[in-house]
Amino acid sequence: MSEIVLYNTRTRKKEVFVPIEPGKVGMYTCGPTVYGPSHIGNLRSQLVPDLLKRFLRSEGYEVTHVVNITDVGHLVSDADEGEDKMELAAQKTGQTAEEIAEKYTKLWQEDRARLNCQPLEQNPKATDHIPEQIELAKALEEKGFLYRLDDGIYFDITRFSRYADLARLDLEGQGAVHRIAEVEGKRHPADFGIWKFAPEGVKRLQEWDSPWGRGFPGWHLECSAMSSKYLGLHFDIHTGGIDLATVHHTNELAQSECGFDVNPWVNYWVHNEFLDFGGEKMSKSKGNVKSLDDLVERGYDPLAFRYFILQAHYRQQQAFNAEAMDAAATGYRRLVKAVVAVRDVVGEGDAEVQAPYREKFRAALADDLNAPKAMAVVWDVARSDSLADLDRRDLLLAFDEVLGLDLANAKLEEETAESDPRIDALLAERDEARKNKDFATADRIRDELAAEGITIIDSPEGSRWSRK
Ligand SMILES: [Zn+2]
Repeated sequence: MSEIVLYNTRTRKKEVFVPIEPGKVGMYTCGPTVYGPSHIGNLRSQLVPDLLKRFLRSEGYEVTHVVNITDVGHLVSDADEGEDKMELAAQKTGQTAEEIAEKYTKLWQEDRARLNCQPLEQNPKATDHIPEQIELAKALEEKGFLYRLDDGIYFDITRFSRYADLARLDLEGQGAVHRIAEVEGKRHPADFGIWKFAPEGVKRLQEWDSPWGRGFPGWHLECSAMSSKYLGLHFDIHTGGIDLATVHHTNELAQSECGFDVNPWVNYWVHNEFLDFGGEKMSKSKGNVKSLDDLVERGYDPLAFRYFILQAHYRQQQAFNAEAMDAAATGYRRLVKAVVAVRDVVGEGDAEVQAPYREKFRAALADDLNAPKAMAVVWDVARSDSLADLDRRDLLLAFDEVLGLDLANAKLEEETAESDPRIDALLAERDEARKNKDFATADRIRDELAAEGITIIDSPEGSRWSRK
């Protein structure tokens, strides 16, 4: 195992990865709150750890990856305020919280599968771990970190000297104050709920008995309780979207380091950046793209979205729009084509010829998971005039074990030889609109054709279409 470097949010440095137990890695990722379909921006936060996991496995590590399911209402925003998402969805649809949770847990698991994410070792639900959460809260209470207000039990952040470390918070400044809704009696604005009481006279769908009274856990508590149950009190890697660092991860860390008496609780904090939608709608006629289903409806292969994500470094904001997604779909199709051309050749490749390419690919990912650089190596191989088909086959399929684009099985879309004057004319109109940067018209035509089961394939040579 050669050296792997990861950027650690807590230290703000790239650090050499050293596992707690040689050869093994424990990794925790914050999962979805299951009250609706996952946003594709949040799916980036699943694809990044999946790439990391695949890479670590290719390096010989045994990886245990845990992702939780938040199926008990936490509050609407990450900042501990607003209404309860699960309860709200239940009110709106007339379903029980359990029914809603089950539906969207399944959808999220399907999204992961369609994106070719590797199966999780554990995928625990918050509602299955209420006793564990109460245990941790009891430990915190015994150590004097908690205090009681009318509406719940709170964590006193001033008792924990490292509270601001992870997100470099300015606890005295305005930033900490305006972020969190004011609750009367809180000792510090950033103090957060560990256990909330069910409001008097209101029957919540989800509530449990506890030593402090009937109610429900604060959102942050579940991740501390479940990660420790499945990975131990001290584990290697915690991942999540960068938006979680300032409140959710900061609070997870505080509860865990105080409750479990560990420092550090997690060795490496790996945070991915946002998808940047730039205010631009993917399609004027059909509203914004939010979920993977929205993309599929528009004729994109889910793996083209995976390909798209691989084109940016995980710590960079990535612009998501129709042009970028079209370019990714074209790139993915070309790569599949390149692999299909060599996939079935028979014979053995030349390990010596392949070695420098393998090393370059590996080095890119070992340097804080530089996927764009790794993709450049993939394209060097796919386009190489000097490599034999056998070596191209070996290399591309080996790289794909890490990239997860399913190149070993991917099929080329039927490239239609059909011609249909009406569709050809619409395509020409769309090409013209794109040339004039009239993306509203271009999107409208794409959507119209998608509704008929026709996929448009864009390339520098122009657009083609195929029927599903
Ligand atoms: Zn979490």
